[in-house]
Amino acid sequence: MEVPFGAREGEPLTPPGRREPITVDSPHGPIRIRGRIDRIDLADTGERGYAVVDYKSGSAPSLKAMSTGTSFQLPIYLWAAEALLGAAEKGPRRFAFFLPIRKPGQVGLIATERIGRKGWVKPGEALDRAAEYIRRFTDAMRRGFFPVYPRGDCPGYCHFHEICRYAKWRVSRKWELHPIPELAVVKDAADDAEEADA
Ligand code: SF4
Repeated sequence: MEVPFGAREGEPLTPPGRREPITVDSPHGPIRIRGRIDRIDLADTGERGYAVVDYKSGSAPSLKAMSTGTSFQLPIYLWAAEALLGAAEKGPRRFAFFLPIRKPGQVGLIATERIGRKGWVKPGEALDRAAEYIRRFTDAMRRGFFPVYPRGDCPGYCHFHEICRYAKWRVSRKWELHPIPELAVVKDAADDAEEADA
């Protein structure tokens, strides 16, 4: 329970937690990431593999967000679990999911194989996409580029319209001046969820 990676100096630490962050390679050098995994389950059958669980008091990111790689938390936890547990626990079976405490269930399941009848995505491309987005966002930040770029139409009930100043024409103009076309959602990624669910 509560396994930190990249823990601050003085923060209590129990193995397998560690003070070193995990890293994602990028053209700007290693991107260091720290966090805290809520729970890691290990099999008691001698099989190798693990399940990473993140409790949510509110709503959890969708399966589509896992498939497109636009939600980073579970991919980062899977990388961290692999780094924390070492080769001894690395195995063919890996799972990560959100567990909303008000409506328990496995949400946003990333898994190497089917468990139950829930929708799920395979880790391979989903994690690769998450890493790619982390690289692209870091590159945009390094360039001082912070566009407001919603991935779909803004919902009519959003109360922040006046302060976020999002307008399609403004973003389009900035895009032409400083194109980061890679920020667009990777096409066909959403299909993975359906494939894995088939
Ligand atoms: S109006 Fe602004 S804050 Fe609201 S969803 Fe659109 S971009 Fe986001």
